[in-house]
Amino acid sequence: MKSIAIINGRIWDGERFSAGNVLVENGTIAAVGTEGYHAEYVYDAAGAVVSPGLVDIHVHFRGISIPMYGFSADCGSFPFGVTAAADCGANFGDEALVKSFGVKCVVFANVGIASDGTPDLARAEALLEKFGSAAAGFKVVYDCEKTGGTEPLRKIVARARELGYKVTVHTNGSAVPMADIIGALGPGDIATHVYHGGRNTAEADGFACLLEAKRRGVVVDAGMAGTVHTDLGVFRRAVEAGAAPDTISTDLTRLSAFNRGGRYGLTACMTVARAVGMAEAEIFRAVTSSAAKALGKEGEWGRLEPGRAADLAVIGETGRGVDFTDASGNRIRTASSYESLLTLSSGDIVYSK
Ligand SMILES: [Zn+2]
Repeated sequence: MKSIAIINGRIWDGERFSAGNVLVENGTIAAVGTEGYHAEYVYDAAGAVVSPGLVDIHVHFRGISIPMYGFSADCGSFPFGVTAAADCGANFGDEALVKSFGVKCVVFANVGIASDGTPDLARAEALLEKFGSAAAGFKVVYDCEKTGGTEPLRKIVARARELGYKVTVHTNGSAVPMADIIGALGPGDIATHVYHGGRNTAEADGFACLLEAKRRGVVVDAGMAGTVHTDLGVFRRAVEAGAAPDTISTDLTRLSAFNRGGRYGLTACMTVARAVGMAEAEIFRAVTSSAAKALGKEGEWGRLEPGRAADLAVIGETGRGVDFTDASGNRIRTASSYESLLTLSSGDIVYSK
């Protein structure tokens, strides 16, 4: 389809809501917010939000993450409106594999930590080299005793700065307080699973650690993982305390993808975020412009802007809600849920309900 007009929707351009039509020509966004249209294919988005393609900053794709987690990249993304993602925990793969995906993708390589607390940076660096332009940085799981304080993390962050990489840190169940983990990170690094309910939760200091992260430009990522790494009560109280996430991500794996009625994806996470009190613009920003910025891709992803690749999602409401219960027994049931009605990747219709 050379030209597509998406009409009558509410436009979310990555920053604000407005009205009008969105025109796509030859794979590129040609106009945003126009009144007229002339196109080969016209999609009526009345009652829905026309958004930049969603950006999921924490997933596990097949061929990159370990086989137990790795999930088919396009199948786990396009049905949920996701057109760009970051694999958070690469152990395998290369740039050619990433380029073979329809979903656009960058990669954080897993950094193991030896029993004496030494991070195995050489292996991660060698792997990132194979990913070329798709290399985003290091992923470190900081949930055991051997990490021995923040020293291993500080070494990883220092090396990332030398190489121009970001660091994303899994924080659930850490022996190290959240405030100390965040204190070891620099602006642009990412703390994920920040609303976990394990030991050393962000609530231990009344969420001061998350407010400090925001002040310093450390990205506060929900990293929901269903409810494996998210306590719905902690999440709700954090939002009430002004410590809502900068980014919302799924931590999608093949274990979580289709075992909730086929509905666990980024749109389900957006629904949970709404249920715990986040405002609509805050939710959409967290899965578009803020997520793109967190990956250093703000120039390419997360905004509807003429001249950019036509990655976009029409997000509507389904009558079916979500029903999640976390490890503490907190349950969220909603009457409706966000869902993607139409997903475009570089102007191609890759999902249509
Ligand atoms: Zn993960």
